[in-house]
Amino acid sequence: MRKFKTESKKLLDLMINSIYTNKEIFLRELISNASDAVDKLYFKSLTDTDVKLSKDDLRILISTDEEARTLTVSDTGIGMSDEELEKNLSTIAHSGSLDFKQENADEQGGDVDIIGQFGVGFYSAFMVASKIDVITKPYGSDQAWKWSSTGVEGYTIEPSEKESHGTDVILTLKPDSDEEEYSRFLQKSEIEQLVKKYSNYVRYPIQMEEQLQRALPKPEDAGDDYVTQYEDYTETQTLNSMIPIWKRAKKDVTDEEYNDFYKLTFHDFEDPAKVISLKAEGTLSYQALLFIPSRQPFDFWSKDYKKGLALYSSGVMIMEKCEDLVPDCFNFVRGVVDSQDLSLNISRETLQQDRQLRAMERRIEKKIKSELADMRDKEREDYEKFFENFGRTLKFGIYSSYGQQAELLSDLLLFYSAKQQKMVTLDEYLDGCGDQQKSIYYAAGDSRDLLSKMPIVKTVLSKGYDVLLCTEDVDEFCLSTLRQYKEKDFKNVASGDLDLETEEEKKLAQDVTEQNTELFEAMQQALGDAVTKVAVSTRLTDEPVCLTAAGPVSLEMEKILSEGPGNEGVKSERVLEINPNHQIFKTLQTAQSLGDTEKVSKYSKLLYDQALLIEGMDIDDPVEFAKSVCELMK
Ligand code: ADP
Repeated sequence: MRKFKTESKKLLDLMINSIYTNKEIFLRELISNASDAVDKLYFKSLTDTDVKLSKDDLRILISTDEEARTLTVSDTGIGMSDEELEKNLSTIAHSGSLDFKQENADEQGGDVDIIGQFGVGFYSAFMVASKIDVITKPYGSDQAWKWSSTGVEGYTIEPSEKESHGTDVILTLKPDSDEEEYSRFLQKSEIEQLVKKYSNYVRYPIQMEEQLQRALPKPEDAGDDYVTQYEDYTETQTLNSMIPIWKRAKKDVTDEEYNDFYKLTFHDFEDPAKVISLKAEGTLSYQALLFIPSRQPFDFWSKDYKKGLALYSSGVMIMEKCEDLVPDCFNFVRGVVDSQDLSLNISRETLQQDRQLRAMERRIEKKIKSELADMRDKEREDYEKFFENFGRTLKFGIYSSYGQQAELLSDLLLFYSAKQQKMVTLDEYLDGCGDQQKSIYYAAGDSRDLLSKMPIVKTVLSKGYDVLLCTEDVDEFCLSTLRQYKEKDFKNVASGDLDLETEEEKKLAQDVTEQNTELFEAMQQALGDAVTKVAVSTRLTDEPVCLTAAGPVSLEMEKILSEGPGNEGVKSERVLEINPNHQIFKTLQTAQSLGDTEKVSKYSKLLYDQALLIEGMDIDDPVEFAKSVCELMK
């Protein structure tokens, strides 16, 4: 018995107990090794004319023996000599694949599709096996070898017999325990499922053979007393689909195939809204197949929802959801990314891996953006549907990145235009406005219907300017994060300084203010802290009053913030604007001149409450309001 080196033993314990808690992945690891071994032989056949291979030689066979409790993974690959067994299987974290890659990289201009990524892969089999035998025969040699170990102390290597080149890895499964039913790995259905899950796109067939019996045809001269004869036969079933759909040229794949793949893989019952395929070549080559769902996943807004793309390395699934591959603002995108260049060794090169993932993320982000922009321009109806589902995520993307994603996302936004009565992009808004318009006007509130009835909205519209009606809570936060679009700033029509008045109107307002200082003071006093100011309005035509906000916090923002915890102190600077041309203003003027302070006070409160109601906000004392209205009606 040769002993494992101390550090190998330590690593073995460590790995079995901690790194891979997911025991079933041992099969993926063994299949990957087998596939690499077949790759190596295939590669050799390309450069060495003495190596003659037929396509049928290149396969991986899985077999089980229930009685002996063994699971065997066999390959027809390059095999190992006794020295290689010693070097490759007896030193943890020694990667033969890497050595091989290095040796051949120069020759092949670096284009060798074998990755030494599972430095500890083989040993993961000890998670399920109490003993492992590896019987292997190197290609071109007559001598086979057997490596055996129980994973504890050490291993033995001895000469053995094997018909043809390749390797059989024979696992004797651990006895079933309360925690784990190891015998499930003897069942064909379980193996099939694991192959489909992790190794579906390994490029060689992964097969299982089944011994079956069938009836022989009845001979023509058989008499009446003929008893049916049976023969044994072997049925070979290939468990994996081999060529990943993302590796096939887009023109060779039907829409139906993409849709089926999407629905099956990502558990959706509706076809995707958009299929995006991406092929990157260069220092880092990869394929990506991405999908934009046509509806929100049911848990999309819950904390259980996780963004991410499935990450494959040469057809082997490494991670079911790799978060680093998509930015938050595109968290609705599902899909797979497959790279043959990605080094995913858990113990090494983590930094480099980060860099590679980031490079991929950037490219993927760009691609999603351009596809969405294309959809916006060419398939507007679909885009609007998409925006209904995920527009909020884009707006959040701008807000939560403090505007860093503005360039990426702002031209993808849609808002409802009060003038055009449809969804428009910001560019479309700007198309409709003249050069003299300095701002992009919007109104924020609960519903389009209410907003379009708002006095201020009507006034801005009547001046010939379009107003975007924003009804989602994130809208105003998004717009105030953006601050500008193509050098035009965003302005809430209910904000203090709309600056839409003519000089004449300004002058008039100033005069009215000066002539009525006492009235305004009295009104201000009646309203107390509720407003910071009572002012003459230049933006009202028919209505007596409206409420605006002077500072950076709008009334709508205050409303939204007050719903969240900890934001109670965030208040807008409310201004009650009064229409000097309205009859009610005259009534107030009269009351003030007659010294009827009670009337001024009561009417001020009533007008303020009215303004609140128009804004869709709560009034402080509804009972008092109702009482005052009744009194007036008497
Ligand atoms: P890795 O696959 O990351 O190199 P493993 O511990 O899984 O790490 O395997 C160690 C080495 O053992 C491999 O690099 C390979 O050289 C060799 N090996 C493992 N399985 C096989 C096999 N089925 N056929 C040939 N060589 C193998």
